[in-house]
Amino acid sequence: MMQKRTVLITGSTSGIGLSIATAFAQQGYNLILNGLEANGPQLAETMAAEFSINADFDPANMLDPAALRAMVSRAGEKFGGIDVLVNNAGIQYVSPIEEFPEDRWDAILGVNLTSAFHLTKAVWPFMKKQQFGRIINIASAHGLVASEYKSAYVAAKHGLIGFTKTIALEGAPCGITANAICPGYVKTALVDKQIADQARTHQLSEQDVVEKILLAKQALKQFIPAESIAALCLFLASESAATLTGAALPIDGGWTAQ
Ligand code: NAD
Repeated sequence: MMQKRTVLITGSTSGIGLSIATAFAQQGYNLILNGLEANGPQLAETMAAEFSINADFDPANMLDPAALRAMVSRAGEKFGGIDVLVNNAGIQYVSPIEEFPEDRWDAILGVNLTSAFHLTKAVWPFMKKQQFGRIINIASAHGLVASEYKSAYVAAKHGLIGFTKTIALEGAPCGITANAICPGYVKTALVDKQIADQARTHQLSEQDVVEKILLAKQALKQFIPAESIAALCLFLASESAATLTGAALPIDGGWTAQ
């Protein structure tokens, strides 16, 4: 790497975001970690020491646009800019449309889609000024296809891919690329909760939920390793990916090939 680059990853105190943060830290990027878990400050301290990087934790809530703008402006001041933004924070809620709670719809759209708008808008001046930027949006296979009972999540992730394409066009003249990653099922807290909920609802064992419901659509009957998504993020952030923009890249064990 020519110079130390800086990456901001939302929802990086757990699951996929934490794997992405670890991969960037291993490559010597400076990090801004974010998320709702209490271990954030500790994680930043440990990663800074382990990988000899600068690492900060910011607890900005994705539903608070002012906090998002403040996070970017603090990071910009401290690190002299932001080179890579990974919009990863996400939540899920599963319910038939007739019973879908209005507040869950608003929260899912807010965390999974609208936060990416606020953060992209806030990092844009930094990236434009340096004529380099990478926006990586963690969408989902549910950004490309639907499943029943996930109306808000599917709508938000489809929206995130549309947003990604638009930003790719606007970023093209100023060295900014934007891409979406569309993972199949990854075994994280978000999915563990779904497994438990579905086992209860369908009166199945958790093993049956995994085999008969979650992985039924994935040709490779296995979870996607979070590390594979992190490796794809590193590639998208690299110079080699300079002409890869506006794409929605599935990493879903063959789910959306069908
Ligand atoms: P996770 O629950 O392990 O992590 C989600 C992270 O987002 C956590 O750090 C959490 O604190 C943070 N977050 C949630 N709400 C927030 C808020 N209001 N403000 C700030 N941070 C908030 O989930 P995960 O599985 O690692 O999911 C990460 C991303 O990957 C999500 O966008 C999810 O939709 C997407 N995804 C996950 C899977 C999967 O199977 N796990 C598949 C496809 C896409």
